[in-house]
Amino acid sequence: MLQLDHTPPKLRTRRLPTAYDLAKIGFFLFGFPRNAFGSIDVSKECNLRCKHCYFFEQDYQGELSVDQWIEKLEELKRTTSRTENPFFQCTWVGGEPLIRKDLIERGRKYFRHNTVVTNGTIPLPNWPDVHFYISIDGDEETHEHIRNKKGIYKRAMRNIAEHPELEVTIAYCITRQNVHCIEQAVKDWAEAGASRMTFDFYTPIETIVDDAEPLFLPLDERDGVLDRLLELKRVYGEFFILPERVFRLMKSDVCKQVTDNCLFSVKSFALGPDGTQKEKCMMGPKADCDRCGCVVPFYLASLVDRRLIAEDLANEWSLAARRAAQGVVTALLG
Ligand code: SF4
Ligand code: SF4
Repeated sequence: MLQLDHTPPKLRTRRLPTAYDLAKIGFFLFGFPRNAFGSIDVSKECNLRCKHCYFFEQDYQGELSVDQWIEKLEELKRTTSRTENPFFQCTWVGGEPLIRKDLIERGRKYFRHNTVVTNGTIPLPNWPDVHFYISIDGDEETHEHIRNKKGIYKRAMRNIAEHPELEVTIAYCITRQNVHCIEQAVKDWAEAGASRMTFDFYTPIETIVDDAEPLFLPLDERDGVLDRLLELKRVYGEFFILPERVFRLMKSDVCKQVTDNCLFSVKSFALGPDGTQKEKCMMGPKADCDRCGCVVPFYLASLVDRRLIAEDLANEWSLAARRAAQGVVTALLG
């Protein structure tokens, strides 16, 4: 059993179901529809320059105006068959998406569920229907070193404190530089009132040379971290948004089966800031699929793997039965 060097803080309990929560029964029964999930790069600009950023490794000359985006979304609506379900969920990314709030303000009305992935430095708009993800890459010192800017860890915390009505998930991209401080960050963000936390591993990008400060964590080392995350999940429960089966799919013995058949690449849309479809996924054409650590393909695979879903459900039911039995014994005794 995991020994923590801290007492887990009281966790926030009000959480909206995610688009994935709502979709998983449909996927389980009917398979994964094309274009149900996707991403839009809202802007080609960002107010930070992080060491691991894949975005600026892609070449974009321009970006569509808000009216051009609306035209594009209307056209997509006209030309896509209903069975493709293209307007279920959209993740608004960038660059920094909150630089162009006006686009998300109008564009999000086209999708049933919306997620905005921000670096947390810009005040969050009051959109209670949106899931916000703030990207955090370590404890305070490490995050600000990787992101090349002081003061942004506490700025992101203020953002959460100023908006208790909003759902904010912390997205932690695990690299060699921040693997040592995962537990500190988990504690910090649980205390700060974040709704949930999710984890990716850094995916190498062909043109990012990181010799001075290596970022990629080799797969055998990743296995050890995944075991640690599984132990932490047993303590932090639903604060960790990912079900156990997603961590298991990221293990080195099975991860290649998932990335060789990446559902994100074949079934989802990823539009660049100029409105063009990106290859091969939101990370662009230079991402290394064999060493992919993006959680999305693993999460999507977990939604259609019936054996793993059945195993997880069996675990959840047996836990619920044990808790119920414990309740009866406690009532009888006293
Ligand atoms: S905040 Fe995001 S988009 Fe901006 S530089 Fe960092 S990783 Fe890239
Ligand atoms: S890098 Fe990852 S998410 Fe992108 S296409 Fe390859 S496997 Fe899929």
